Amino acid sequence: MKVITTIAEMKNLRSQLAGSVGLVPTMGYLHEGHLELVRHARMENLTVVVSIFVNPAQFGLQEDFATYPRDPERDLALLEKERVSVVFMPSAEEIYPQGFSSWVEVEKVAERLEGAFRPGHFRGVTTVVAKLFNIVEPDRAYFGQKDAQQLAVIKKMVSDLNMDLEIVAVPTVREPDGLALSSRNTHLSPRERQAALVLWKALCLAQELWDNGERSAERLRQEMTSLIESEPLAKIDYVSVADPDTLEELVKVDRPALVSLAVTIGKTRLIDNIILEADGM
Ligand code: AMP
Repeated sequence: MKVITTIAEMKNLRSQLAGSVGLVPTMGYLHEGHLELVRHARMENLTVVVSIFVNPAQFGLQEDFATYPRDPERDLALLEKERVSVVFMPSAEEIYPQGFSSWVEVEKVAERLEGAFRPGHFRGVTTVVAKLFNIVEPDRAYFGQKDAQQLAVIKKMVSDLNMDLEIVAVPTVREPDGLALSSRNTHLSPRERQAALVLWKALCLAQELWDNGERSAERLRQEMTSLIESEPLAKIDYVSVADPDTLEELVKVDRPALVSLAVTIGKTRLIDNIILEADGM
């Protein structure tokens, strides 16, 4: 496994690679969710490149960039075990040198939900992802369904800017009790870890109501909201039932819908989602 820290070295290595390249962009502190992306990439490509970069540009001033969990040695050991060929872990200065002033910004789909609560977040994400695509030139890039809006925003960027690669979505990996794996879960106290289950419970409630014929998006949002409000440690940012591509809120759930939510448990902000869809919908 080659560990590369400079763009020049990464580009040089890329120019020597034959066959398809799969890229898995991450911010490190890896868990089974990340490793699932790596496994999908390995199945479909000759070479797998994993990037580890805690991207300062996607964190707001009041957000957790400084306290975001980091453990590069453990990450490298996990990736070695997964037989990854290349790890690209640049410094912040390498990605954003002095005088850096070009940004990639997706409108509309990036302005809702996470975009509304975290101004500038997706501008940071799309800029770094576009840079990674230019540096690594992957044939395919792998993203988790866990960050459903990120996936929609990146797909839109790739389509609008005619980027020549395939975006592959990988299903969310969960703990046995349903909590979606996230690097931020490490910040949860035992009591908060218990309370965090309310996200999954709310998503299951939406699924159950929908299975029983409920088609009013507002009713789904209301039922989920009251369930989450019954958990004293939980503070809701949003509960959404929206079109999976445009993220526009739905009135009637008569086509596939992305049910997503953002809830802060104590000091830890968590997001999760499911897609409601039926055969022949
Ligand atoms: P992050 O390191 O949080 O930026 O995540 C890197 C990639 O892993 C993103 O594409 C995430 O959507 C994906 N990811 C994070 N958590 C999970 C999970 N529980 N299941 C599947 N993919 C995930």
